[in-house]
Amino acid sequence: MKTIDTLVPDVYALLQTKGWYNGDLAAYFTTVCNQRLRSQWDDDTHISGSLRLSRMGDCCPRALWYSIHRPGEAEPLPSWANFKYTYGHIIEALALTLAKAAGHKVEGEQDELVVDGIKGHRDAVIDGCLVDVKSATSFKVAESRKGSLEKNDSFGYLDQLDGYVLGSANDPLVTVKDKGYLWFIDKTLGHMHVYEHTARPERILHRVNEYKIIVERSSAPACTCGTRAKGTSGNIELDVRASYSPFKHSCFENLRTFLYADGPVYLSRVSKTPDVPEIDRQGRIVYH
Ligand code: SF4
Repeated sequence: MKTIDTLVPDVYALLQTKGWYNGDLAAYFTTVCNQRLRSQWDDDTHISGSLRLSRMGDCCPRALWYSIHRPGEAEPLPSWANFKYTYGHIIEALALTLAKAAGHKVEGEQDELVVDGIKGHRDAVIDGCLVDVKSATSFKVAESRKGSLEKNDSFGYLDQLDGYVLGSANDPLVTVKDKGYLWFIDKTLGHMHVYEHTARPERILHRVNEYKIIVERSSAPACTCGTRAKGTSGNIELDVRASYSPFKHSCFENLRTFLYADGPVYLSRVSKTPDVPEIDRQGRIVYH
């Protein structure tokens, strides 16, 4: 019987051969792809925001509160980012198909899991192990090879995995109960790496409790982001953390966005209009 330890070499070996892609695998790939793309693209505007196991990474308490109570105030993702997520789903469906084709046991795809009332959906169980597939940048894959994800889990992958492992505690499909695995696929180069993670049940239970308390508040926690001078013009810009926040417009009223050569700058006070294009919240050029 195959084990998770040989997943990557087995898939690489498969990819050196021909004749393995058949009707059953095509049907499987299509089904998984369809499932993923529907979860991204089905119209879910009628569904109110709720805490999910996939959102258990470190986040700003105020942004978390807004994401549940006023999700409509979030800055929309740019089209290119939505496209990136779409082909990420396709890569991940392909990875599971390759695992099957290489003789590994793949089951429990997208099963619902619950931890202390919070729901989530795992990617799959491979050879009895909880696996989350991540299409990632070459940098992220290299970082995972160094084994340093615990120190820099900026996307909350490990917190998410903790939730899935704990949520699968009583699932007979999952025979490895104390570990979870991230299967990284480098979306530029096609390299793969399986990262083994020892689950942290106390940590995820604490995080779930902490986030429940935040979202149960009747009003949003205070804004903790700041501003700083933009050069000597008298203009004031958002700090880096706020600039990346989808809820920046909820924290700073009357923000104006200017497209500098190295990216957008968000000004909370404009004393001197910058000599670069300005865009509105829909991304349209503002003509002065
Ligand atoms: S702007 Fe800052 S404080 Fe406000 S929601 Fe975003 S990250 Fe949180």
